[in-house]
Amino acid sequence: MKSKEELPTLVFATHNANKAAEVERMLEGRYRILTLSDIGCDEEIVEDSDTLEGNARIKARFVKTQYGMDCFADDTGLEVEALGGLPGVRTARYAGEKADSQANMSKLIQALEGVPETDRGARFRTSICLIQGEEELLLEGICEGRIALELEGTAGFGYDPIFHPEREFRTFAQMSQVEKNTVSHRGRAVRKMVNALLARFQ
Ligand code: IMP
Repeated sequence: MKSKEELPTLVFATHNANKAAEVERMLEGRYRILTLSDIGCDEEIVEDSDTLEGNARIKARFVKTQYGMDCFADDTGLEVEALGGLPGVRTARYAGEKADSQANMSKLIQALEGVPETDRGARFRTSICLIQGEEELLLEGICEGRIALELEGTAGFGYDPIFHPEREFRTFAQMSQVEKNTVSHRGRAVRKMVNALLARFQ
């Protein structure tokens, strides 16, 4: 069994240690995952692309060029059909640059006022950019669903209280973390990346 320092290392372009630990567990001890804080990166990375893929690529390329380390980055958006795919890349800032989740959800519920349940289709989409050596790989995870008529549930974060995943009467905010992870956009994208990384050992 290799010690952590001997394992191939990947930087996850996030400051969230929980997110990084979760991916490390899924990688079955084959890789060591470091966060931006672990490598001393506290610069703000400007995510100014108009696509999720573009923003994931900006963050991953920043780490690769500035720190010379293999890495991956993710970016997530909520795409609402009745709004032509909005808020999409602006999901975190839908109600303004400093908006919190409550403000974002209120704005979305208002924007969909009068829209019947049958026309409230939406999907969460996560794009991951993985860079190893010279190779760059884009992976995607999608969770189809619909926007609730009002907030339901208190678990989770972001838009969880107003998102019903497909074939589910509960919102993400009424599901356990494990249940959400099984069907979520991020869970799906991360599992694709993990499978691609583990396949290199077979
Ligand atoms: P990020 O790219 O992971 O930072 O996600 C961008 C924004 O999408 C976040 O600020 C949240 O508002 C929202 N978001 C991302 N993932 C989820 C989720 O699983 N549930 C609810 N909201 C999410």
